[in-house]
Parts: sequence; C-alpha cells; structure tokens
Amino acid sequence: MSSEKKHSATVSPVVPSKPARYTRHNDYTGMSRSFDIIVIGGGLVGGAIAWGAASAGASTALIDEGDIAFRAARGNFGLVWVQSKGAGMPPYAHWTRRSADLWPRLAGALQETTGTDVALHQPGGLVFCLSQSEFADRAALVARMHNESGDAGTRMLDRNEVRAMVPGLGDAVVGAAFCPRDGHANPLQLMRALHSGMVSKSGTYFPGCTVTAIEPGSHAFTVRCGGEHFTAAKLVIAAGLGSRALAPMVGLDMPVRPLRGQILVTERLRPLLLHPTHVMRQTQEGSMMLGDSQEDVGFDTSTSTKVIGEIAARNVRVLPALADARIIRIWGALRVMSPDGFPIYDQSTRYPGAFAATCHSGVTLAGAHALALAPAILAGTLPESLAAFSASRFAAGEGAR
Ligand SMILES: Cc1cc2nc3c(=O)[nH]c(=O)nc-3n(C[C@H](O)[C@H](O)[C@H](O)COP(=O)(O)OP(=O)(O)OC[C@H]3O[C@@H](n4cnc5c(N)ncnc54)[C@H](O)[C@@H]3O)c2cc1C
Repeated sequence: MSSEKKHSATVSPVVPSKPARYTRHNDYTGMSRSFDIIVIGGGLVGGAIAWGAASAGASTALIDEGDIAFRAARGNFGLVWVQSKGAGMPPYAHWTRRSADLWPRLAGALQETTGTDVALHQPGGLVFCLSQSEFADRAALVARMHNESGDAGTRMLDRNEVRAMVPGLGDAVVGAAFCPRDGHANPLQLMRALHSGMVSKSGTYFPGCTVTAIEPGSHAFTVRCGGEHFTAAKLVIAAGLGSRALAPMVGLDMPVRPLRGQILVTERLRPLLLHPTHVMRQTQEGSMMLGDSQEDVGFDTSTSTKVIGEIAARNVRVLPALADARIIRIWGALRVMSPDGFPIYDQSTRYPGAFAATCHSGVTLAGAHALALAPAILAGTLPESLAAFSASRFAAGEGAR
C-alpha cells in the first residue's frame, strides 16, 4: 500500500486526451427537431459535411439509416489519392489536389477536438508498372494530366529509382509513377472522428433513422423518418447509393449506381512498403491491404476467389515477400458511382437550400468536403469552381436514364 502511494506520487500518469463523447440518439422523443442544416447520410461524405457545418457553428442534424444500408464508407481502402484523379476533367483534378492539401488541417482539427488519430500519412504514392507498355501508358496519362490540369508533381521513375524506395521490389516491376501528394489514412478512425467531432460541436447524430420523405416548405424542408420528422432551412442529400431515390424529392438528380471492390488484408508484417500504391498499402499497424477490383455486379457485396486470387497474384509480383503472408480478412463493398465517375455537387433550382453531394472518393475528398464544401453550403451558394459537377451534365446522356 505504502509503496503504491510512493509510486503514484513520483510517477506522472500518462493521461490520454479525453475524446469527445460519441453521443448517439436512438430515442428521439422530446428532442428539438429544428436545425440550421440537416445532412442525410452518415457516411464519409455526409459525415465530413456535417462536421464542417457543426464546426462552423451551425446546429446540424446528421441522419443515417444504419447497418441495413450499403455503406461504402465502412469498406474502403483508405487512400488520399491525387495522381490519377481528374483525367479529362480538370476541375476534379484541382478539387482533389485542394482536398489533399486541406487534409493535414482536417486531421489536426479532428485530433484536437476528439483525441482521435486518423493516421494520415502523405509520403507520396506509387503506381507500379509491370511491363514496358504499362509504363508507356502511365507516362502518357501523366503527361496528359499535366497538360490538362497543371503540375501535380507526378513523375515517372525507372526501376532503379523505385527500388531505392521499395527494397523488396519484385523483378517484374519496370518502373512507376510517383506523386508526392498521395497518401493514406485510417478510414474507420476518420468516420469515428467526424461523427464524434460533429457531436462535440453543435451537431446531433441520429443513427438507425431511414429518411422516407422530404417535403419542401416555404421556409424549411421537413425530413420524415417513419413517424419522426426534422426541419431545417438547408438540407444536404449525401446518402450514397440511397441518394438516387431521395434526390428527386427536392428536384435534384443523383443517378448513382454501385460498383463493387474487393479488398484483402494480411496479418501484420514488418515494414515493407513506405509509400501507398493505388492497389496496395501498409497500414500503421503493419497489415497490408490489397485491392481493389472494379466490378459491375449490382448490389452484390460478396467476394469471389477468382478476383481475390488475381489481386493477390499481381501484388506478389510487385512484392514477392507477400507470398508468405497470411490473409486474415476479405470483403466486398460497393462504391457510389456517377455515370462518368466524377462527383456530383448541386443545389436544387426548384428548391434552393437543398444540396446534393456524392463521389467515389470520400476519403480523398474529406478535406475539401469538411473545409470548403460545408462552408459554401452554409453560405447558400456553391462556388463557380464546382459548377462542372452539376448533374445537369447528364441531362442529355446517361444520367437521364
Ligand atoms: C472497395 C472500396 C474502396 C474504396 N477506396 C477508397 C479509397 O481508397 N479512397 C477514397 O477516397 N475512397 C475510397 N472509396 C470510396 C469511399 O468509401 C466512398 O467515396 C465513400 O465512402 C462514399 O461515402 P458516402 O458517404 O457517399 O456513402 P456511404 O458510405 O455509402 O454512406 C451513405 C450513408 O447514407 C445512409 N443512407 C442511405 N439511404 C438513407 C436514407 N434513406 N435515410 C438515411 N440514411 C440513408 C446509409 O446508412 C449510409 O451510411 C472506396 C470504396 C469502396 C467500396
């Protein structure tokens, strides 16, 4: 007993910074249901916008359907990826670069307010080329994007340069593209930090709440979830694949469809890869994540040994040490894809105050969604730089389907 006292008097205990309480509301009776802004969809897109709105002082409701929904945010790869984003669409390349540049600010703010480390690491990313023709195609893409959208810092590296960065490199690799702005983060920690950070400001999270109707009124929108309802003058539909059905209720169009990706996770390994690639990254804990396929299979989230085998085989050619690694997890998850693969940001012309937001890179774009899009929505106008992302671009084409 005395030695314990002595011990506690001389050694300072390590007290972790207290995380904000992760308040959930499942009993909605008696709560104020009037907010400055309602965000429908508690995935990475809705979570980032809601965090940005609450951080700016707006009373914010984040409404989420819960585990019965398809939730891309819970099955993704965790890249903050710049180098290949926006070929043929310079505004997307610029928006992505801006988001990657904003990411350290977001990660710092989340750490400060929630105590959660989202494991952001932006050491630059590699895209390995396994043949001369792959190398030539990649070099052409890098040159094209440079001409279209300016210099993102991406350059082609020959095999010797890549080998200096990746000591265990396989013989099959002839070179790589490297972009210093690429990085990765822990997407589940990001989700948690966005939600708890929002709640620690002026936000309220309503999980297990399926929006069934949105009624535009003269001063506010009424959002109905079964027998419950919420009102706000501003509304953001960021419900991933659920957005398609909700958007027409406020004169918006979000013609999104699922695209499956499968991911493998290995046991924890010694440090093998300091730089993430678009299909392989080593997490802070040491696991290697491998992925991710692009499969048009509707709402099927299952996995297949054929695709898993192909992913593993290609990555073993890049890093032969992986051949001995044990796979501990495999999953399939559905991306939220627009017809051309680029984001949709819109404000309803029929019902101003109602906004649409969706993309297939919710990790990468979290910085921009939280720190640039959310303030613009609160101010009531999307900036000119986002005009190219209106769904009106689909009016005469695929989106009209
Ligand atoms: C395999 C895979 C790998 C990926 N890798 C990356 C990557 O490396 N980097 C990157 O940036 N992005 C990546 N992504 C994409 C990223 O995960 C998504 O962009 C992001 O999760 C989409 O977020 P979201 O919020 O739009 O959709 P979701 O995460 O699907 O969230 C939508 C939410 O809306 C809710 N909802 C739906 N309908 C309703 C309703 N009627 N009422 C209330 N709530 C509703 C659901 O409950 C759900 O939680 C990947 C995705 C997949 C599938």
